[in-house]
Amino acid sequence: MTLLAVGSVALDSVETPHGVVYEVLGGSATYFSYAASFFTHVRLVGVVGQDFPPEHRELLETRDIDLEGLEMVDGKTFRWRGSYEGAMNAAKTLEVQLNVFGEFEPNVPERFRDSKFVFLANASPRLQKLVLEQVDKPELVVCDTMNFYIEKERDALIELLELVDGLVINDAEAVQLTGKHNFVAAGQEILGLGPKFVVIKKGEHGSMLMNGGQVFCIPAFPLHTVVDPTGAGDSFAGGTMGYLAAEGRFDPETLRRALVFGTVLASFNVEGFSLTKFEAIGRPEIEERFEQFVEMMRF
Ligand code: AMP
Repeated sequence: MTLLAVGSVALDSVETPHGVVYEVLGGSATYFSYAASFFTHVRLVGVVGQDFPPEHRELLETRDIDLEGLEMVDGKTFRWRGSYEGAMNAAKTLEVQLNVFGEFEPNVPERFRDSKFVFLANASPRLQKLVLEQVDKPELVVCDTMNFYIEKERDALIELLELVDGLVINDAEAVQLTGKHNFVAAGQEILGLGPKFVVIKKGEHGSMLMNGGQVFCIPAFPLHTVVDPTGAGDSFAGGTMGYLAAEGRFDPETLRRALVFGTVLASFNVEGFSLTKFEAIGRPEIEERFEQFVEMMRF
């Protein structure tokens, strides 16, 4: 099934206890698309400035990612700078430069408009909605959001939530969005805003799916060393949506399996800076870790 993603394509500068990187390839749509491309063909909608290094585009071109919707316009590429400390469960944002991403008026290529699966990765809810409006009859629409937009564009976000089937959100953001500190209560509150399912991500503590009165909880894949958590949430969503799109369905059982693949993809992503770990793996490593995860959960 065709999968379309919109979100940021960024130059990230990141500091973790394991090192520092400057202006490496990042962005919500980048991590999402790369992770999903292990499973299926991805159509990417995004924007970069004239300063976007050609090698980054070339890297994405090596994947099963259609870049016709990645526009290059006058101006500078979106930049994010952040750091992580201690258990590295939350990023501290040090600087956000929206640049060309701030004014982006997407024009979804004609060829992309029949996409059946749509993921609205972290971006302004205004932009997420503009893209959604240009897709003809999607079967599954899932979105992500983050503290930045919950704070600055809450009304647009609430409007968007009425239009989506699923929301993927991290724990702190679920609290920020709903005012509820209990995740079950927060999840229920979110379901009342429109989505049919919600996935609350809890970093190293795994994730929780709530849908139709059911709850499904899975741990994160236990890792000895986390190098850089940047993009974990987007990789999780990419693995999940990529698997769903490849299967062409999203019944509750398939969704549960997809979330395990999402967890596996996130676990690989955090083992290196930027996309370095993804570049070093393929489907066999993903399947192997999936089996390890299933074995770990068996009792
Ligand atoms: P996460 O999966 O939550 O770790 O997402 C990390 C990615 O989000 C980084 O690569 C950033 O470039 C990107 N990002 C940070 N802030 C924003 C923002 N305000 N809008 C869109 N993407 C962002």
